[in-house]
Amino acid sequence: EAEPAPSHLPPWGGTREVPPPWGLRWAAGPRPPILWLWGQRGALVAREQRERGVAGWPRAAAASPPARLRRDMANVKVALRVRPLSKRENAEGGRIIVEVDEKVAKVRNIKIDNRLEGPWDTREKIVAFGFDFCYWSVDPEDPKYASQEVVFQDLGTSVLSGAFKGYNICLFAYGQTGSGKTYTMMGTPASIGLTPRVCEGLFSREDDYSEQPASCRIEVSFLEIYNERVRDLLTQSNQKKPYTLRVREHPETGPYVQGLSQHLVTDYKQVIGLLEEGIANRITAATHVHDASSRSHAIFTIQYTQAILENNLPSEIASKINLVDLAGSERADPSYCKDRITEGANINKSLVTLGIVISTLAQNSQMFSSCQSINSITSEGDIHVSSHPPGSVSGPRRQAYIPYRDSILTWLLKDSLGGNSKTIMIATISPASSSYNETMSTLRYASNAKNIINKPRVNEVRHQLLILFNFYICFKFIQHIYQTQSEHI
Ligand code: ADP
Ligand code: MG
Repeated sequence: EAEPAPSHLPPWGGTREVPPPWGLRWAAGPRPPILWLWGQRGALVAREQRERGVAGWPRAAAASPPARLRRDMANVKVALRVRPLSKRENAEGGRIIVEVDEKVAKVRNIKIDNRLEGPWDTREKIVAFGFDFCYWSVDPEDPKYASQEVVFQDLGTSVLSGAFKGYNICLFAYGQTGSGKTYTMMGTPASIGLTPRVCEGLFSREDDYSEQPASCRIEVSFLEIYNERVRDLLTQSNQKKPYTLRVREHPETGPYVQGLSQHLVTDYKQVIGLLEEGIANRITAATHVHDASSRSHAIFTIQYTQAILENNLPSEIASKINLVDLAGSERADPSYCKDRITEGANINKSLVTLGIVISTLAQNSQMFSSCQSINSITSEGDIHVSSHPPGSVSGPRRQAYIPYRDSILTWLLKDSLGGNSKTIMIATISPASSSYNETMSTLRYASNAKNIINKPRVNEVRHQLLILFNFYICFKFIQHIYQTQSEHI
């Protein structure tokens, strides 16, 4: 149940709070009611199809989902990064149980005791997981060592090229506390991470991506979710209640944080200033609330809008980049807090819900692909897909409900998980045997995320009013020529 749109937004579904600076001010205003109604009709049809699920598509359309939908689907890309042994792990003996071979990570099963090993023991000694990218960052001397630059060249550049084309992008880091999430996302002054590098890439855009836009506009915001409450990391005022922002849902643009400060930036230095300010605010909070940073999720959002001329007509391409540093994944595990009195309070609801959302989406996507394969046989005319009565066990099942609204994090990242976004997950692990359980749980989680299929699309707004206006001007001009010619005659 979407909450009503805030009153400061145009009533026709326009989403712009601040008018654009590049002289298209009037063109970005409210759309005429007839166009708005046309848009609403499309949205209603789309929503109905979504709610009915894939299996509920009308018989005629069941042969295969719309071609446009198939083309635009994209699996969540998953990368794995293994960090160096920490001082403590080294002191404990530093036994490494992880190995990376191209795109496969192998973990030695330490639960199998070598002394008891025998021919009757059929358990796997090595468990392997395949990913889109695997980064071995354990030893800088190793030839396959993956530095921050290597990670950026794969993941950062794909974030940038997606943003330049007008897609929404989400990159999130997942792993236990101390596994290298913040190092990968933010980095250190000596070894800069993905977020600052992506920002730098936006400002120093190179020609090899696509045509340069006429102008572009970059706005950033930085928030933190702690104990299911949202806090703006970029407000200077010393508010007494820092965690008070509300999440609402706009019928067209989806969930957003009400009152979150947006900062217009014009160069790289400004973004770095804001990033540092936000990180410092996170750390200050951590000293007040014990260990807050490893229990909070930080989302750095870049709104990247390009004004382009397409066939000499102005249009806008808007892309939203979410760079997310999640809380330590051990907080999602109820067994982690077993010995604590305040057990319930310590479990991170957002992280637990994220796990449920990811596994439900993965199940749905697998169901979708099996539907597709059955349907492709049907289209060849051999088997009838709906020979089962609806609702029967063996027939195509309904898609499971995705509980996005059960937590703030999943609600805000709704589009990034199974929606209009290209999404990359980077799972970080420690190579040490002492982290075996956490490592296995992160790897299973990440493998699950690989199955999610998103539906990214280019967010382009054509200025219909402007097109009509161009026609009007042409018409007036031709009329004027005719009139002046007839006066001469
Ligand atoms: P998290 O954010 O997951 O809790 P951090 O990013 O803070 O973990 O990493 C914990 C420690 O490990 C930090 O001191 C960090 O500098 C170090 N570290 C993590 N990943 C790497 C890496 N790939 N290379 C070098 N040091 C790393
Ligand atoms: Mg961290």
